[in-house]
Amino acid sequence: MLALSDPGKRQKGVTAFLLEKGMKGFSQQPLHGKLGMRSSDTAELVMEDVYVEDWRRIGEVGGGFVDTLEDPRQGAHHHRPSAVGWAAAPWRRASPTPPDRKAFGKPIADFQALRWMMADMATELDAARLLVWRAAFFCDEGKPYTREAAVAKLFASEAACRAAAQGVQIHGGYGFTKEFLVERIYRDVKLCTIGEGTSEIQRLVIARELLKA
Ligand SMILES: Cc1cc2nc3c(=O)[nH]c(=O)nc-3n(C[C@H](O)[C@H](O)[C@H](O)COP(=O)(O)OP(=O)(O)OC[C@H]3O[C@@H](n4cnc5c(N)ncnc54)[C@H](O)[C@@H]3O)c2cc1C
Repeated sequence: MLALSDPGKRQKGVTAFLLEKGMKGFSQQPLHGKLGMRSSDTAELVMEDVYVEDWRRIGEVGGGFVDTLEDPRQGAHHHRPSAVGWAAAPWRRASPTPPDRKAFGKPIADFQALRWMMADMATELDAARLLVWRAAFFCDEGKPYTREAAVAKLFASEAACRAAAQGVQIHGGYGFTKEFLVERIYRDVKLCTIGEGTSEIQRLVIARELLKA
């Protein structure tokens, strides 16, 4: 949990603490009605006058915000590879999908417009995968990888959303129904651009790293 330990210092007045279920004043409210990711439980964490002892502090007083923002490991091991998986999913489901679908007497995979979409999806998927591998390689080598991780998270998340949208498009009307998995992927994948640092926050991190150089 991040708490404002010194409100006057804005983000430099944020400190991280470890809270445990069952602590007085700390409760969880399950959230229902999500757009996607419905098979994963999400709860709102409610804190009312929770007393936290100093031994529960993580890191320095006032260092919580910067530590959280600068620790690229958070999303690197979750949302970046997930986004690559999600980008791959509509591609696998859509290429050439639905295989027996014909329009104007031809398999839809023969239409150049759809082939271009598939080519774009495959190209972005390769790029996303390589960016994730680069960030992971830097991490394994013990090199700084804040920028690489943010670039990978941003690109893989946005590419996965584009791939999911194209997957729905390639399916036509079927894509709008629950009959094919692309409908679910389209809803689930949006979380990649929001969770563990939104796309806007990744851009802030990338720009900050660029301006440091
Ligand atoms: C299904 C689900 C599961 C989640 N699971 C977890 C979890 O396990 N643990 C956890 O800690 N959190 C979790 N979250 C919360 C998630 O990390 C936040 O929703 C996310 O980080 C965005 O924060 P916010 O909702 O407060 O948006 P806000 O900060 O209110 O942002 C709203 C909009 O403003 C933009 N914005 C905000 N600040 C800036 C800025 N400085 N510059 C430019 N644009 C900005 C954002 O990019 C966004 O577009 C979960 C959320 C969802 C939906």
